[in-house]
Formats: sequence, structure tokens, C-alpha cells
Amino acid sequence: MANRLRPAHLAVVAGLAALLVLMLFMDIPFFRLQSRAAARTVRVVTTTSVFADLIANVGGQRVEVTSLVPMGSDPHAWDPTPREIRAVRAADLFVYNGLGLELWAPRLIETAGRPGLVTLELSEGLTPLEAAEGDWHPDEADNGLHAHEGEEGNPHFWLDVTYAIHYVRRIAEALAAVDPQGAQYYYARADAYVSELHELDRWIFAQVERIPPERRILVTYHNAYAYLARRYGLEVAGFLVTNPDREPPAQVMAQLARILRERQVPAVFVEPQIDPRLAETLAREVGARLGTLYTDSLTADVPSYIAMMRANVETLVELLH
Ligand SMILES: [Zn+2]
Repeated sequence: MANRLRPAHLAVVAGLAALLVLMLFMDIPFFRLQSRAAARTVRVVTTTSVFADLIANVGGQRVEVTSLVPMGSDPHAWDPTPREIRAVRAADLFVYNGLGLELWAPRLIETAGRPGLVTLELSEGLTPLEAAEGDWHPDEADNGLHAHEGEEGNPHFWLDVTYAIHYVRRIAEALAAVDPQGAQYYYARADAYVSELHELDRWIFAQVERIPPERRILVTYHNAYAYLARRYGLEVAGFLVTNPDREPPAQVMAQLARILRERQVPAVFVEPQIDPRLAETLAREVGARLGTLYTDSLTADVPSYIAMMRANVETLVELLH
């Protein structure tokens, strides 16, 4: 009879189990120390500081994340060195966007030749908008979206917060696959972060409401804002280049100037990782204001994805309204 569990004993056991689960869920330091003794830090290498921030928000204490392209640099026009190859060689998980944002990534993975490296292509399975590069024809110049060939599609999904949420969910799944012991931890952190992102999404809608509808027009340096524009009801009227590693076609400047004048677009937007001189010339020529938007990289001024999006929307409201 002595080794038989009575209801009172069961209650104690259930209570202890519940406490343990609670501690795990809340990431109480005592518990973390215990579990960390067994679990090794998961090494994640990613391409940009934007994705590094998303990964750090999900991975927390269990993950060490490295961004290959430094803050403030342009992932389109960048090449890995032996240092980055070594970083990939030591990684458990490699996270990149795909769709040509990092044209150098597949070769880097191959060169690193890390057996068993898990790779996560964040844009996989999503239907992209056109990269929209090609000849500028007068009949197409009105919407800024043009037919093109040989492009994989517009890679900049993360500037629409709902796609950033999709990226966060995929990151949580990939981390849970690489480190199954941490699965609950990753999913709980992803849930908490996604709540913040939903709040950000609602805030952006409210902010865009402050811009008069006829002035919700974007002319940018590279075509990074297609998804943001579609989600929040802005119009991309034009851009200088599809991919910032290329020079704008000669006739683009003149056509953009015409669009800016005809539609009385109040501002032209540049990006901190890109030489602003052409856009400055354009803005001066038509008397538009010049603003800075963040797209493919975080900086010291906007050290997180949420800070970057908030700064962008504040700039849009200030310059367009
Ligand atoms: Zn870009």
C-alpha cells in the first residue's frame, strides 16, 4: 500500500510538473542554467542584420547569431571573404532571403562545404512580385512596374510586416528542427515577438491614414517597397534601379523627373547603404524633398527591425503628408 499514489500525492506531483513547465516557459534563470549545461549554443549565420534581429528575437539565449553583411552595408553588392566562409563552416544553420537578394549565397554555401549544414531560404514558397526591371516604356512608366526577364522576383518581403511574421515562424521551425530540446522555448519566444509585430502592423496602418490619399506615392532608389506599398495602400510611382548593384539606365532619370513633376510627388527617398547622389540630383531638379528609408540593413540609428519600420513610417508621414 505504501508505494501506491494517493490523490494527495498525485496533486503534489502534478503541481511540481506544472511549476517546471512554467519555469521552462518563463525562462527563469535557475532553470536556464540547468538546461544550458546540457545544451550547446546553436550557431546561426545569416546574410543581413535585419534577419539577424529576427533570429535573435526567436533564438534568445540558446542562439548565437552572426550577420555576414555588416550593418549599414548593401547585401546586393557584397562579396564574401575567407572570413565569412569560415563563419559558415562553423555554423549549424544558415538563413538567407533568396530571390536574388544575396546572389552570392549559394556559392558561399557550396564553398564552405559544411556537411550537414541546415539552410533556410526565408522567401521559399512565397509568390513574389516582379523585380520590375527592364526597359522603361512610356506607357508603363506610370506605375513603375515593368516587365522584365531573367529576374527571380522582388526579394524584399520583410518590409510588409505580415511577411516578417511569416519569416519569424519559419525561423522558429528551423531552430526547433536544429535544436529540438529548445523547441518550446523558440515557439514561445516567436509568439511573444509576433504579438509585437502585429501591434507594429496596426500602428503602420494608423500612421498611413495621416497621409492624404493622393500623396501616398513612393519614388525610391531601389525597388524595395513593393510589398510595403501593397500592404499599407501606398503606390510605387518609380525607382532608379531594381538591384542596387547596377547603375540606373540612362533614360530613367529623365522619366522619373517627369513623373515627379506631373504627379507633384513631394519626396524622393534614398537609403543609407547606397550612394545618394543620383537621387539628390533628381530631387533638386524637380524641387522634391529628400528622405531616408531603411530597407536591407539595420544601422546604429535603427538597430532593430521594429525600430527600422517605425523610423521609415515616421519619415513617410513627415515628408508626404
Ligand atoms: Zn534590396
